[in-house]
Amino acid sequence: MLARFVNSLPFGLSQQITKLYFQALIRNQREAHSQIEHHQYRNMDVKILPALQDNYMYLIVDKATKQAAIVDPVDPKSVMKAVEEQGVNLTSVLTTHHHWDHAGGNEELMKLHPDLTVYGGDDRIGALTKKVEHNTQFNIGNLNVQCLFTPCHTSGHICYFVTSPKEDNESVVFTGDTLFLGGCGRFFEGTADQMYKALITILGTLPDQTKVFCGHEYTLQNLKFALHVEPSNEEIRKKIEWSTERRQEGKPTVPSTIAEEKLYNPFMRVTQPTIMKFANCSDAIQTMKTIRSHKDNFKG
Ligand SMILES: [Zn+2]
Repeated sequence: MLARFVNSLPFGLSQQITKLYFQALIRNQREAHSQIEHHQYRNMDVKILPALQDNYMYLIVDKATKQAAIVDPVDPKSVMKAVEEQGVNLTSVLTTHHHWDHAGGNEELMKLHPDLTVYGGDDRIGALTKKVEHNTQFNIGNLNVQCLFTPCHTSGHICYFVTSPKEDNESVVFTGDTLFLGGCGRFFEGTADQMYKALITILGTLPDQTKVFCGHEYTLQNLKFALHVEPSNEEIRKKIEWSTERRQEGKPTVPSTIAEEKLYNPFMRVTQPTIMKFANCSDAIQTMKTIRSHKDNFKG
């Protein structure tokens, strides 16, 4: 029926329609890059929502009040679906940085949900209602959010450190494109000095058990580079083995912890002699700069 209708149209138009039809078909069949996973802690829940090619959005819920926030909602429709399924009250958007694959859904989400507070550290972020700085604090229900200013990947990048006042060792951090599992973001708008401060001084001093939820599923590519830098580091091999299994099952590799990152992430290890030796540097910031440029050119 459709085919007969299409065939009756002028050739150029029927070609166009056929192309659109197949594009829609492909779009429908294309699966999300990872499964949705729900991590439940004593006072907070974090739902991992895959988006685009390899991005992650995170729905964070205070269990006691059912208040929720969403990190980097680039795909507002799947955010709203998760919010409805969980029956939570979405109050805030936590934007890590202005790149479209993180902030590009803010305006559309705001149309669906006009009462949202949109947090971020950069005027280029769409629909921003509350600009934050280093150590700005606010709440999601009973949960405490502390903003960590980590410029380098972009000049206004913010990581969000979330804790429960009721539980000493319940903490998570959303690191956007600053810290990845096994790696870090490119230095688009900053310097090695700033990334050193972000990874070593700020994120590196968070409690060891803090769960790390980052902006992209880049773990295996990052660990390949980590092994190139430190071929005798057993922790890297173990994490590669575990991550390979997870990816074969379509599962996310997030979260890790701050303590784990210090064992295998070369950018968190720039003060280690093995990394400095690889970079042929005696200074940790120079080492950061050198290994980032190696990673930028690494073909794996
Ligand atoms: Zn980015």
